[in-house]
Amino acid sequence: MHLAMIGTGYVGLVSGACFADFGHHVTCIDKDTAKIDKIKAGVMPIWEPGLEGLVKSNIQHGRLSFTTDLKAGIERADAVFIAVGTPARRGDGHADLTYVYEAVRELAKAATKPIVVVTKSTVPVGTGDRIAEILKEEGAPEGCSVASNPEFLREGAAIRDFKIPDRIVVGAEDDHAREVLKEIYRPLFLNQAPIVLTGRRTAELTKYAANAFLAMKISFINEVADLCEAVGADVQEVARGIGLDNRIGAKFLHAGPGYGGSCFPKDTLALLRTAEEAGVEQRIISTVVSVNDDRKAAMADRVAKAVGGSLKGKRIGVLGLTFKPNTDDMRDAPSIPLIQRLLEGGAEVAAFDPVGREQAEPLLPGITFAEDEYETAAGADAVVIVTEWDEFRALDLEVIAQKMKGKALVDLRNVYDRAEVERFGLVHFGVGRGQYG
Ligand code: NAD
Repeated sequence: MHLAMIGTGYVGLVSGACFADFGHHVTCIDKDTAKIDKIKAGVMPIWEPGLEGLVKSNIQHGRLSFTTDLKAGIERADAVFIAVGTPARRGDGHADLTYVYEAVRELAKAATKPIVVVTKSTVPVGTGDRIAEILKEEGAPEGCSVASNPEFLREGAAIRDFKIPDRIVVGAEDDHAREVLKEIYRPLFLNQAPIVLTGRRTAELTKYAANAFLAMKISFINEVADLCEAVGADVQEVARGIGLDNRIGAKFLHAGPGYGGSCFPKDTLALLRTAEEAGVEQRIISTVVSVNDDRKAAMADRVAKAVGGSLKGKRIGVLGLTFKPNTDDMRDAPSIPLIQRLLEGGAEVAAFDPVGREQAEPLLPGITFAEDEYETAAGADAVVIVTEWDEFRALDLEVIAQKMKGKALVDLRNVYDRAEVERFGLVHFGVGRGQYG
């Protein structure tokens, strides 16, 4: 099949490359000329394991191409996926659909034959209906369909998630759209990937419900971690003890500095706005959001406690800036409010991230970027592990201890055991493991 992908970011580029790898002919379109030029020159605009090889081999096989020209890009397409950003609108938290509707208007004017328009972007319930109206208003050819196919991939494991998904959700209102999407995903059905074929509105809501549920799991275990600290229990073991129950599941039960990233914060807010408009209370999600906001704000206090109560004049080394390991994505990363509060408290901050520096630098003025873990620790009163990159899991703690001025290792991801750290004369401050009680 011939497919077009409008938006060549974390989702569009990975999805486009994977579809091409299934054997489809895919044109990825983006209005960001620098991004398209970069990809054409063989440089990936994002850091995602395995992506460069996948893109290059599919370009070589003639199945994947890139353009900034939407009209040319959709010319042969049977289906056009929309994978542009849907950030939280400033002020009210609604999903900002400006990019989606702009892409649809452009598409409607450029289309010369009926196409299936598929939203891969995360969009609120009813967006597909509005897209169908816009297609009509802008004079798109008769017979276009609109379907919803939300994406569930995780940055850092995006290719694997796309190729071996837990499920594929397709929401469509007509047989043609359903058949086209089934054909597109046929290589995955052959591998027994479950498909949920449903209505468009249900598919749209499914994505938000999934993200809200995962955010809830994180906020839940974070609150349990607080309780563990107060009563002398270990949240890691509590999480294992409950996670082995299949009804609960072990994933997303890691206590830490609160969820961040490009999806959970904006999608929980957008779901609340949808519920508000529908006049339906969502008390659980609303609490999840405020628990998480409070948690992110409280992380700097933990660091302050670890260095004796005041941050003033203290040097803090921060390990990991991206919102999770194996990505360069800094959107809504918990490191940002933490570092801002450390600076406000009068601390000096040196930070290191294996791949996030380029994206982090403009967001974190006033800090020093170190070249590696050990330079980060030099002269530090405390070292704080914020993102659990693999390379922080086996630090040479002897060298870290020698380089530091103080002794506090604030381990916001519970990467280390207390005993392991204490062997080197450091003091371990984990999350939910009794130390603050
Ligand atoms: P992104 O910001 O990385 O990429 C969006 C791209 O769209 C940008 O390159 C931008 O230049 C381009 N764009 C915007 N308007 C355009 C237009 N009119 N024509 C052509 N290109 C245009 O965003 P992302 O992280 O890939 O997210 C895209 C969508 O997928 C969002 O709705 C997000 O919620 C959803 N999603 C993201 C993830 C994730 O892990 N990042 C996972 C699942 C779903």
